Amino acid sequence: MTLDDKQREMLSRALELTRDDEINCDQFASQLAAYVDGNIGDSEALALLDHHSEICPECAEELQILRRALD
Ligand SMILES: [Zn+2]
Repeated sequence: MTLDDKQREMLSRALELTRDDEINCDQFASQLAAYVDGNIGDSEALALLDHHSEICPECAEELQILRRALD
C-alpha cells in the first residue's frame, strides 16, 4: 500500500500545521496502514507517527492490533 494523493496532501498539511508538535489521532489513524507497512517515506512524518504511538495509548493499541493482524 502506498500513500495516495489525498493522504499525502493531508499529511503534508498536518506537518505544516504541527511542525514539531504532535499529530492527532485522526491523522495517526489515516496513516496507520502505511506506517505498519513501512511505507512512510518522509522521515519527519515517520517521527511524528512514532511519537504519537508513544504518547497515545489508544493509537498504540490500534497499532499493535494491526501489526498482530498482519503477522
Ligand atoms: Zn492517538
